[in-house]
Amino acid sequence: MEPDPEPKPGGRRATAPVTESPEEVLSTLTREGRRRWIYPTPSPGRLTNWRRAVAWVLILLYLALPVLRIGGRPAVLLDFMHREFALFGLVFYPTDTVLLMVFMVGLLLAVILFTALLGRVWCGWACPQTVYLEFVFRPIERLIEGREHVRKRRDDGPAGWDKVWRKGLKITIYTVISLGLAHTFVAYFVGWSALLDMMTRPPAESWTFFVAMALTTGLVLFDFGWFREQMCTITCPYARMQSVLLDPDSLIVAYDRVRGEPRGKRSRSALEAEAASDSPAFGDCIDCRACVRTCPTGIDIRAGLQMECIACTQCIDACDAIMDRIDRPRGLIRYTSEREADGLRTRLVRPRTVIYGLLLAGILTAFTTVLSGRDAYDVNVGRAVGEPYTILPDGRIANRIRFRVRNQTRAESSFAVSVQREDGLELRAVGIMPVPLAKGEMERLETWVIADPATFERGVQQAEFRLEFADGSTREVEFTLLGPKG
Ligand code: SF4
Ligand code: SF4
Repeated sequence: MEPDPEPKPGGRRATAPVTESPEEVLSTLTREGRRRWIYPTPSPGRLTNWRRAVAWVLILLYLALPVLRIGGRPAVLLDFMHREFALFGLVFYPTDTVLLMVFMVGLLLAVILFTALLGRVWCGWACPQTVYLEFVFRPIERLIEGREHVRKRRDDGPAGWDKVWRKGLKITIYTVISLGLAHTFVAYFVGWSALLDMMTRPPAESWTFFVAMALTTGLVLFDFGWFREQMCTITCPYARMQSVLLDPDSLIVAYDRVRGEPRGKRSRSALEAEAASDSPAFGDCIDCRACVRTCPTGIDIRAGLQMECIACTQCIDACDAIMDRIDRPRGLIRYTSEREADGLRTRLVRPRTVIYGLLLAGILTAFTTVLSGRDAYDVNVGRAVGEPYTILPDGRIANRIRFRVRNQTRAESSFAVSVQREDGLELRAVGIMPVPLAKGEMERLETWVIADPATFERGVQQAEFRLEFADGSTREVEFTLLGPKG
């Protein structure tokens, strides 16, 4: 996009108090439906500085979380293969389905409440799409290919050595970064040490890892190298949900029409004359289009709230810089709400935020209650594969029983199994007891449980087992033994 011409001396009147967007197609498409490449100009300013700081904290966190260990486990691990999930010291196992469901519902409610209050703050400040595109990929592109108008001229021009080496270098650096991001992403699912192990092996030994890595790298490269803002304007489901989640009190980035209209380009002397006038002919917008040129989704915020706006605040910084230059107060484009823009007060407490807040509080209470009531050891008793029972040479009945125990504490432990002697049962372990139980790990113990055939009633007998753990705690479990019916 070519930079707009400077305002001409003498200026001109705005055509209409409020202009609707002349575009009837997405800002990223031409009227013919082809991709319209966006070349947003950077807008240094206080919000961009804050966003950059937040972005780098998030990038460092993203890289560090699979490596950092809390309680002997990665800070975040989503190990679907072994069905084990670690979140900042909390470990969830397959038996924690209810807990995980409550957690997911809580997360969803938190997003809904957050969006109702703060609008698309997530999109503009914390979404990986914005963070990496604006603070990693675009700066590299500017460094290698030059400023926006230079890049556009080169892109529109014929292929040549200058174009080839610059694009080649950019894509090479993008690929290296994408590889780093993809490896970190995979580390969230397999753990860092497993990732390092797979990286050092020949591809044939862990081809699934290489396929996953190649696909993820390709997707990252495709997204940040080419697809870019279309992820927000076309693909992202969260963006599609905004119209339901936002209300007139939600925080948005908006242009102050009352103050800005009628807009019009004019000279500095005309602006100074206006400042001294009680009834200026123009509003504060000088129609310089700096807010449009900086927009990464290519929209004109002056046309009102649009689905494509990711609340990145770049237009705020761009317009504030213009206001400073023309001696007008900052904030012609600012964080506000639709109600505030209409001269009313923004309400934080309103029916939907109260309902979402209450639901979230309920979910958090349920989560804490279920978590605190979770057993230290998850015990599962089952019948081993094979015949339901065996008749021993001395006539007694033997059931092969498997004990599966997971240590859900934060300490090493062990367990031993015994039967109540008065049951007349005998338990023989296949293996050594007590069974060592590392923290977070699950171990199996197979046993033979031998019973007198006379103790069976209609082919069944209820047995009671006692598990003793290294920390002194015990657990009783019942299990039905099978035997001959006659
Ligand atoms: S940057 Fe500000 S002054 Fe310039 S066109 Fe946008 S709203 Fe108007
Ligand atoms: S309109 Fe402003 S806040 Fe919205 S995406 Fe464009 S630059 Fe960002």
